[in-house]
Amino acid sequence: MKRKLSLFLMVMLVAMSACAKTKAPKYVFYFIGDGMGINQVMATQYYKSDVQGSLGWDRLCFTGFPYGGMVVTHSANNYVTDSAAAGTALASGQKTNNNVLGVLPDRKTKCESIAEMAHKKGYRVAIGTTVCIDHATPGVFYAHQASRDNYHQIGTELSQSGFEFFGGEDFHTPFDRKIEDEGNYVQAEKAGYTIVHGYDEYLEKAGSSDKIILFDKNPKEDHYCKFAIDRGEDDLTLSQITTAAIDFMMKDPKKGFFMMMEGGKIDQACHGNDAATVIKETLDFDEAIRIAYDFYLQHKDETLIVVTADHETGAMGLSNGNYRLNSKVLQYQNMSEGEFSAHLEKMGREIGDILTWEEVEQELKDHYGFWDKIRLSQKQTDLLRTTYVETFGMGPGELKAEEYYKVDKMSDEATRIISEIAQISWGTGSHSGGMVPVFAIGAGAEVFCGQLDNTEIPMLIKKIAKY
Ligand SMILES: [Zn+2]
Repeated sequence: MKRKLSLFLMVMLVAMSACAKTKAPKYVFYFIGDGMGINQVMATQYYKSDVQGSLGWDRLCFTGFPYGGMVVTHSANNYVTDSAAAGTALASGQKTNNNVLGVLPDRKTKCESIAEMAHKKGYRVAIGTTVCIDHATPGVFYAHQASRDNYHQIGTELSQSGFEFFGGEDFHTPFDRKIEDEGNYVQAEKAGYTIVHGYDEYLEKAGSSDKIILFDKNPKEDHYCKFAIDRGEDDLTLSQITTAAIDFMMKDPKKGFFMMMEGGKIDQACHGNDAATVIKETLDFDEAIRIAYDFYLQHKDETLIVVTADHETGAMGLSNGNYRLNSKVLQYQNMSEGEFSAHLEKMGREIGDILTWEEVEQELKDHYGFWDKIRLSQKQTDLLRTTYVETFGMGPGELKAEEYYKVDKMSDEATRIISEIAQISWGTGSHSGGMVPVFAIGAGAEVFCGQLDNTEIPMLIKKIAKY
């Protein structure tokens, strides 16, 4: 009897401690790496080790989280999703069709996001990204549109959301001539938002603002923050956005917060099959997560961090055959292919003439490490020379349109060749249906394990955080 009683007590104690452990987290971080499949993560870990000269893998901050699993990403109408449908699933737990943002496939019925649920419950909310703030992934957390291309209307819904913090490059389409209104900037200001450009201005004005929008200091023509590999001192970073968001959320720590931060450009680099840029972008995403992890260390029992991706991009492969991977050569590429292409174009303009092969060859040495640091086969050198003639032989040639930027044939070929030497293969310039990872740490994190559908992730967050 005595033994039975003590066993009963033990079971009760275990149950009670489990209950205490699953206390709803007051602070929730949701990180989404756009296009960050399993191989993007693995390539980054191998690369970290390879550049140190050892054969192994170096953990990232988020891959060190104790819980994790695999996520299925298909949309309502295809095995291969886009960011709008995948984002809707990750935000609201509802599948929708590709291109549709925050509504069901009927293009009308709204899917309430967990950010909206959290806000209704009184939590403060922050949404951040390295692309424009009305792009698909951030948009699904506060907007409901039949098409992800309705940038201006998504921007209008941003002002109506009442969320306390937004951070990103800029509005994509602040003015839309077809929709006559005062524009997204005026709408936001009328709704009580202070709009700041750059982290320094954030620091100046955050104290006196109730709601804030942090944009890039120098808005970019393409509406996206710079790739980590190309960034200058004044360019906004996801780490700055995350730091600012935490600071702004903690103006009223009693309320708790929900925060979604997107590494939005891993996808763009994958669309261009630009391996070095993908890896640097993933490392940059990890740095922003490290800031949340530091916060977690200060508030362990009250914080949950979930890191995942919306889909894989590029069907990135970790071998070209021959049982080899040689990612360390990617360290010598110091510009994204789009930036390199723009750099060549600018050089030509400044010289006022067609670039010679010798000039282009020097640029390839300086920015891809070709010949000086990386050995090229005769075939690869010949290919570059032929592509040079095709691209520059008759003056600047036509640009090839990648999904998010334009690139000349020559830069495209150089980027293909460095992937080939690194032994990284690409199956597509678009998205793939591959699984993506999920990692979690903190209060309630243990439920993020096994194979999950993307719709389950927000529903688990909702349950744990009691939204
Ligand atoms: Zn994409």
